Amino acid sequence: RTTHFGYQEVPVEEKASRVADVFHSVATSYDVMNDLMSFGIHRLWKRLTIERAGVRPGHSVLDIAGGTGDLTLKFSRLVGPRGRVVLADINQSMLSVGRDKLLDNGVGGNVEYVQANAECLPFPDNTFDCITIAFGLRNVTDKDAALRSMARVLKPGGRLLVLEFSKPPNALLSKAYDEYSFRLLPRIGELVARDGDSYRYLAESIRMHPDQRTLKEMMETAGLERVEYTNLTGGIVALHRGIKL
Ligand code: SAM
Repeated sequence: RTTHFGYQEVPVEEKASRVADVFHSVATSYDVMNDLMSFGIHRLWKRLTIERAGVRPGHSVLDIAGGTGDLTLKFSRLVGPRGRVVLADINQSMLSVGRDKLLDNGVGGNVEYVQANAECLPFPDNTFDCITIAFGLRNVTDKDAALRSMARVLKPGGRLLVLEFSKPPNALLSKAYDEYSFRLLPRIGELVARDGDSYRYLAESIRMHPDQRTLKEMMETAGLERVEYTNLTGGIVALHRGIKL
């Protein structure tokens, strides 16, 4: 079986290990690069995600593909001492950078760190009030399996939020964005992180990702209901939300 790694067709197992290489290699420069490449706007996208999550004190939250833990940090304050947040990621390097950052920020007892693949989450059915996956789904090989797994571990009434790069409906913006991500972004990656290839992969994975409507349908097929999405920054990013009823 083959799958896409950027534009290339590669065997399924190889995609997973190449994604692992990319994130081992970008882990330490990840936060700086995020701010640089998005001009800091990723902070606004994440803030909206938190607002729409509706997380309250005492809730259980899973931040899958949580990486360096930006969302986990906010959730740990919202759920308070009686709640819990699981920061889960397939990649040990990203998890350990995330853990150090959260500890530096005074995050304590209500956060757990779990190395896990979104495609087969190691949690019982009906565990979480809310699940977020931010800029993670496009890296997952079997996205349908990942969405089914997330739906399974959500409690009835729980929410899944998917924050991900998407397709700007405006042709002009789409062209400008392509130029930016395929020409400029790998160069910034080369200059700042000395790693043009990883950033070339990231740009290519964005282009391969399903558009807004397709992702909405995929979430519905996985068993989520009342699925809706909001385009952010002209649709460069979209925030999808679905509920398990
Ligand atoms: N959520 C963080 C954020 O928004 O800043 C990190 C996003 S980072 C671009 C993508 C993360 O997805 C990486 O940490 C990577 O290790 C993780 N990832 C990739 N494939 C995964 C999978 N199958 N299961 C869980 N995490 C995965």
